[in-house]
Amino acid sequence: MVPEFDAKLSEYARLLVEVGLNVQPGQTPSIESNVEYAALTRKCVSACFDCGARNVAPYFGDDFTTREAFLRADGAVFDEYPSYMKARVDWLLEQKSPRLSFTGSNPELLKGVDPARIQARRKASNQPTKPYFDAMMANRFQWCVGAHPTLAWAEKVFPDKKGEEAMDALWDAIFSVCRITGDGKAVERWKEHVAATAKRCKALNEYQFTSLRYANSLGTDLTVRLPDNHVWAGGSEFTPEGVEFVANIPTEEIFTAPRWDGVDGRVYSALPLAMDGNVIRDFWMDFKDGRIVDLHAQAGEEFLRRAIEVDEGARCLGEAALVPYDSPIRNTGLLFYNTLFDENASCHLAFGHAYPSCVKGGEEMSEEEQKAAGLNQSMTHVDFMVGTPDLSIVGTTRDGKEIPVFVNGNFAF
Ligand code: ZN
Ligand code: ZN
Repeated sequence: MVPEFDAKLSEYARLLVEVGLNVQPGQTPSIESNVEYAALTRKCVSACFDCGARNVAPYFGDDFTTREAFLRADGAVFDEYPSYMKARVDWLLEQKSPRLSFTGSNPELLKGVDPARIQARRKASNQPTKPYFDAMMANRFQWCVGAHPTLAWAEKVFPDKKGEEAMDALWDAIFSVCRITGDGKAVERWKEHVAATAKRCKALNEYQFTSLRYANSLGTDLTVRLPDNHVWAGGSEFTPEGVEFVANIPTEEIFTAPRWDGVDGRVYSALPLAMDGNVIRDFWMDFKDGRIVDLHAQAGEEFLRRAIEVDEGARCLGEAALVPYDSPIRNTGLLFYNTLFDENASCHLAFGHAYPSCVKGGEEMSEEEQKAAGLNQSMTHVDFMVGTPDLSIVGTTRDGKEIPVFVNGNFAF
């Protein structure tokens, strides 16, 4: 390994373990890994022990084996979920093990596999793992998603580069957007970043704006009403024991949910939208009483139309997220074809499902109660970027005061 790369990889491992998971003395973190990620995983294992971990429980998958099994194993295998795997997630849940995982696997790994097998596997694993993943979504233990390049992903992001060269370029991009420079100070930089994000969330939560108005020179003029008692969140989260962690590295956004029936006007996309391998470019959408009533795209319009027709809620907004235009991800100028990165590139909206936590007490509400509180319900959730260098967002308070939230694409406070 090149010494400079090795130093950056160590810094990345420390960042994921110390800031992402924030491993506490006596905990046994799990690392959901892949044989190709061995170098980074080993550094993460060491970083966990440096934090005082009791033990570390990595699990190494292998893309070749996964694909080979999907193609060649006995068909009945996919209807079963092995009891030893169920025992593993039950054990991790019982321990409240912090969970580190990586995004980046080959998006075309299962190309040509019988979709019935994939469907069966998903169905068989759903029930046995549900208590574990429900607990994770409710932040009952620390969890963090980082990234690891794979060749297929790297060559997609850098179509002009091949092999090692593409991998190196993607590593460089990941390091730079994670604020890793090789000076060993990424952990400190992230602590500052998380604290600054928390301060902005607090200010927005105190304002309790009734609506936000988006405008820019592309032609966006959109009014987004916010639910009563909405909550802005971003940066870090907390377990019930009060352990702070960062679920996504990198993360730049502060987000809440619009009222599903409270969006009016037109919004223009600021970046291409990559969805299931298709790219939708230069589109606008018109809203009336929360619903998309018209849309147009220069390219990929049929994919966008299909996406908003998935169910009733797919044509309403479920997320409004603020990201400064001058953000490390947008500054790379890259389309990563990966939500972890692309949704942190600029201000975005999402059509489809709203996070229950975006309204006070939302996690304890039934789906009907969430909808009544203003939170959109859908089986889909698609982020699209709307932030431009000249975007302005003005918030209106309950007593009608107008407060600048974004000026020229960046936070006004
Ligand atoms: Zn978001
Ligand atoms: Zn989203």
